Amino acid sequence: MHPRDISAMPRVISLFSGGLDSLLTACLLRDLGCQVEALNIKTPFCSTEEAAGRLAAKLGLEFRVHTVGEDYYELVKRPRYGFGKAVNPCIDCKIHFCQIAKRRMEETGAVCVATGEVLGQRPMSQQRAQLECIAKQSGLGDRLLRPLSAQWLRATAVEREGLIDREKLLALKGRGRRRQLDLAGKYGLGKLPSPSGGCALTETSFAPRVFDLIRALPDAGGWDFELLRCGRYFRIDHSTVAIVGKNAVHAEMLRGLFRSPQARNCAMIEPSDYRGPTVLVVGALTDENLGTGAGLVLRFGRPEESPSGQATVEVSRDGEMHEIMATITERAESLRMLTRDDLARLRPTPQVEPAENDRS
Ligand code: SF4
Repeated sequence: MHPRDISAMPRVISLFSGGLDSLLTACLLRDLGCQVEALNIKTPFCSTEEAAGRLAAKLGLEFRVHTVGEDYYELVKRPRYGFGKAVNPCIDCKIHFCQIAKRRMEETGAVCVATGEVLGQRPMSQQRAQLECIAKQSGLGDRLLRPLSAQWLRATAVEREGLIDREKLLALKGRGRRRQLDLAGKYGLGKLPSPSGGCALTETSFAPRVFDLIRALPDAGGWDFELLRCGRYFRIDHSTVAIVGKNAVHAEMLRGLFRSPQARNCAMIEPSDYRGPTVLVVGALTDENLGTGAGLVLRFGRPEESPSGQATVEVSRDGEMHEIMATITERAESLRMLTRDDLARLRPTPQVEPAENDRS
């Protein structure tokens, strides 16, 4: 067999979460003679880069990770095309991902961007009108190829130009996965990743705290959104929240956020000499709010294990640390976490544009 002349192979940027559809898309294009760059997009809510990188290596694909910037949070706060069942702005998010891939296409001289979208697979973002809207609003237009459903869609530029053989592209449609699983067997993909990409924005238990943040802090940015992943989230008053780490990983994340140059007005509270959570109080650092934060350390900690028998906490703020006696105040005792039952109450009134308006 002659080695392939890579320079003659059309280069394609393929969005690659490592989920089944993105794997099949990359395999199909690779086997059609394309030079595939698997582009993984990392967001604070969905990090698939490790698993995706391993899969790309296994498939012999070039692999690249792009981490979203502050502009991503703007679309999470105010998506033009609205939220799904939770706080997932899927249409806007896909437009954003495609814009990133478009820039990469232009940088590398690739002929198109490919995605693993399947017509009709998801109600919010994979109906025909939404697919067309994503192509148009991302600026990719007919440089956006969906190889798994291509036969149902209008021919793209690369198909018309004969760079990719349309006849060899697929005609998958709908929610069924049987055909995808058969193809996975054909490509020898082995143990398959879960079809849901693990995006926290699709979780109805996570969504209430995002809506609460957006409502209280319209200028929320990356630092604020990072907090939401660091444990229990309690609203103390209209401008103040307390984040209570659940484990050592959360504690480390909270310490990192506390030290970050982007940090808002916040205080870190930790148990003095017993096991207990790291708590970050963000917003109005009044004595009462700091007392509530200290009370949360006791509520979720083990002050009874203190060798000194004193329920003290260390409060760090403004470059200084001091120790105070703490008690579980009524407020610290009564604060409750937001649950999916709060979702309807916190969801903003939709002011969205239907994707159908973008049919070109
Ligand atoms: S599930 Fe999450 S990552 Fe995927 S398109 Fe929707 S918002 Fe974006």
